[in-house]
Amino acid sequence: MGFVKGLKCRECGREYPVEPIYVCEFCFGPLEVAYDYEKIKNVLTREQILSRPQNLWRYRELMPIDGEPTCGLYSGFTPLVRADKLAEQIGLKELYIKDDTVTHPTLSFKDRVVAVALTKAKEFGFDTVACASTGNLAHSVSAHGAAAGLKRFIFIPASLERSKIVASLAYGPNLIAVDGNYDDVNRLCSEVANKYKWAFVNINIRPFYAEGSKTQGYEIVEQLDWKTPDAVVVPCASGSLLTKIWKSFKEMKEIGLIDQLNCKVFSAQATGCSPIVAAIKEGVDVIKPVKPNTIAKSLAIGNPADGYYATKVIKDSGGFGADVSDPEIIDAIKLLAATEGIFAETAGGVTLASAIKLIKSGHIKRDDRTVLCITGNGMKTKEALTGHTGEPHHISANMKSFEEVMAKIGS
Ligand SMILES: *Cc1c(COP(=O)(O)O)cnc(C)c1O
Repeated sequence: MGFVKGLKCRECGREYPVEPIYVCEFCFGPLEVAYDYEKIKNVLTREQILSRPQNLWRYRELMPIDGEPTCGLYSGFTPLVRADKLAEQIGLKELYIKDDTVTHPTLSFKDRVVAVALTKAKEFGFDTVACASTGNLAHSVSAHGAAAGLKRFIFIPASLERSKIVASLAYGPNLIAVDGNYDDVNRLCSEVANKYKWAFVNINIRPFYAEGSKTQGYEIVEQLDWKTPDAVVVPCASGSLLTKIWKSFKEMKEIGLIDQLNCKVFSAQATGCSPIVAAIKEGVDVIKPVKPNTIAKSLAIGNPADGYYATKVIKDSGGFGADVSDPEIIDAIKLLAATEGIFAETAGGVTLASAIKLIKSGHIKRDDRTVLCITGNGMKTKEALTGHTGEPHHISANMKSFEEVMAKIGS
């Protein structure tokens, strides 16, 4: 038995039964999963959570499934790494990396949302899953869908990084590369979803899919010994992860897993696609869609579905936003790797570079206990560093040649 009460419109509050639907018939607002927190409060204690296997299902009462989880049993519970060397460089006392570059089978945080989406799609009885993706979702649905024995239709912008295309193809899905950007792909998928009765993880399954992102927030709090950080920096594409981290903190307070919620939530975006940060900087909650142009392709959503709600969370929590250029993204990827040994994809560069700006501007204070959400592995976007790293020292296979190089390197 699950603890879900039903779906609820975020705008007008109208309630709906649990079905593969995502939009309110009356006001066209997005639907969200509503839970019976009173019931959850009685069963989900810190001790209960600590006794469970270290994967994302240790918070299963707060996930929108009815039966046993059937997907993503090895996803989640990624490390929270204390990053002292990096902290010193960027001027913070206490800094942590929520390291979603590792542990997940497809090496990005999308394995969280896909675990929930596919478990739910199977509960609904679908035999085919589909998605519109900026890259990581394609990889994750391809992999987990294969393991779940589901047919897969994956739609991507044709201009995606080659490594992400190859990584997805390895699992044998139907990969559809569309001429156009993510927003074009998404528009097409809405039409496809009207005709084909598939579980589109980010369309008709979206209310359930999005809940998976909450597990990152629960883990951060558990790993900080049941406290929220003072500041958290979150990379934004559609804005969903940011809103769900906030929801996870609020839920933990609601069911008594934490006493206090004091956390400023910050959005990180690439300047070449920063509709959410632009709204925050202008102090408005209307999102102006943009045409993406950035190396951070996994975040390149010009018309973010949860942009409006992300701006609300940022305002309510006292946070802010920052946007960074492609060279700043590359420098940050290298800084994180060189200080902490963590190789992040472009989205990770966006997060760290944005954090550096927010520290300089005083929005994040030196004493703020800060968490950076690093959401994907650098091996997935190696292309981005081409021409921006040094070259190996090339030598002949003899000591003389090596000593020549040593003389140049110095000690
Ligand atoms: C999808 C994604 C995000 C955030 O996506 P939202 O749509 O804002 O939830 C962040 N980082 C990476 C690497 C992603 O693939």
